[in-house]
Amino acid sequence: MANLGITTVGEAKEIRGMNLIAAHSHIRGLGIDTETLEARPASQGLVGQQKARKAAAVILQMVKEGKIAGRAVLMAGPPSTGKTAIAMAMAQSLGPDVPFTMLAASEIFSLEMSKTEALTQAFRRSIGVRIKEETEVIEGEVVEIQIDRSVTGGNKQGKLTLKTQDMETMYDLGTKMIDSLSKEKVMAGDIISIDKSSGKITKLGRSFTKSRDYDAMGPDTKFIQCPEGEIQTRKEVVHTVSLHEIDVINSRTQGFLALFSGDTGEIRSEVRDQINIKVGEWKEEGKAEIVPGVLFIDEVHMLDIECFSYINRALESELAPIVIMASNRGNSVIRGTNYKSPHGLPLDFLDRVLIMPTFPYGPEEIREILSIRAQEEEVTLSPDALALLTKIGQETSLRYGSHLITTASLIAAKRKSPTVEVPDVQRSYQLFLDQNRSVKFLQEYERRFIGEQGAVSFAPSASGDRMDIS
Ligand code: ATP
Repeated sequence: MANLGITTVGEAKEIRGMNLIAAHSHIRGLGIDTETLEARPASQGLVGQQKARKAAAVILQMVKEGKIAGRAVLMAGPPSTGKTAIAMAMAQSLGPDVPFTMLAASEIFSLEMSKTEALTQAFRRSIGVRIKEETEVIEGEVVEIQIDRSVTGGNKQGKLTLKTQDMETMYDLGTKMIDSLSKEKVMAGDIISIDKSSGKITKLGRSFTKSRDYDAMGPDTKFIQCPEGEIQTRKEVVHTVSLHEIDVINSRTQGFLALFSGDTGEIRSEVRDQINIKVGEWKEEGKAEIVPGVLFIDEVHMLDIECFSYINRALESELAPIVIMASNRGNSVIRGTNYKSPHGLPLDFLDRVLIMPTFPYGPEEIREILSIRAQEEEVTLSPDALALLTKIGQETSLRYGSHLITTASLIAAKRKSPTVEVPDVQRSYQLFLDQNRSVKFLQEYERRFIGEQGAVSFAPSASGDRMDIS
């Protein structure tokens, strides 16, 4: 079989033997000088497109400082000019608890929920709520413990009286604390700490009255020296959740499990209103901070006029993220209408967005990007093969050039060469068409295809002759 040049599945697996590499996995960040916010010519996987990268860095800076929310940015440029790549770089440069949601505009057209619900969910996924919880920790030496089970009549709930050396304090403890207490087997004479919010009881050691004889303790004994009596310390726990997560937890019977199944369904607007009020209260009380994140909508021209009007309104809300959009369209029809507009966006919408253009790459940049991609895919290209790929990338598209790296490397591996040479690239080029050659191919064989033209040509002619389709 091998002589016939056919690769078996087994062989193909052997040849592949590589990890899946995504289109943007070589991107590690915006490659910016943090002082000046200037984009370095090539850094963190990104090459060229310096103006757009600088603009992205400025926006990112404002997001980080929490200065802007409810703004919209449009990255407009021809295909393969790095719009998505720059958005991915922005995502990587955001702080760990700043939400970043990525959405292809076509994803919002689903049968499961309305367009506006899908957009609302995307918006609320992009807003974080940083919740601060102050927990009170009480440390003290237990002199006496009483569990008054009669309070509820059950075994598990009750009141606990913890007497410290100097004072007697009665804590109303719930199940959690009682459980924790029995696990820890706290006895009179122990020094314990109680985290009042979680109910966690930690045994710190045994008391050594008067002399506090440390020498008597074994090396492993955990002992925190605390003054006699009661000390209260405060510790702050911070966690960030998205508004959407709060919505889901409060709206479905299966609660947070819906977050894993993704089966969130439509969420009632009353639930969201209540949550907004609650979050507003937390904010007022200093318990929570709103973290506006980033919502990236790729192929934004795929949205229709209703979606644009929704976004227009949603951006004005108090709880709005930064919306970054990308479009590779010139003047095109706005979906849901029959009029044309730049980038396929309504003029009034376009008027409120900041536009960041991206430009086609020069040969040097294409060479550099292809070389980075080859490294990412662990492919060794000979200098001539890289030069040829660059020429192909320039004359066809960067994406096509990048795809040929993979196919050429498979061809090189087939002939057991560790390096991709010019003939491997040529062979790939012949095997897979780029866009222009595909158009030519179509023009040449148009009449043989099934379609408006093809249907006519395949129909029996008026004379009743059959078409020659051999
Ligand atoms: P489209 O309009 O077709 O969606 P796009 O402008 O979003 O295109 P990308 O998908 O970002 O283009 O780019 C195509 C490929 O080239 C991706 O693999 C991307 O990571 C890579 N790429 C594009 N620009 C750069 C760059 N400046 N530096 C490094 N890699 C880049």
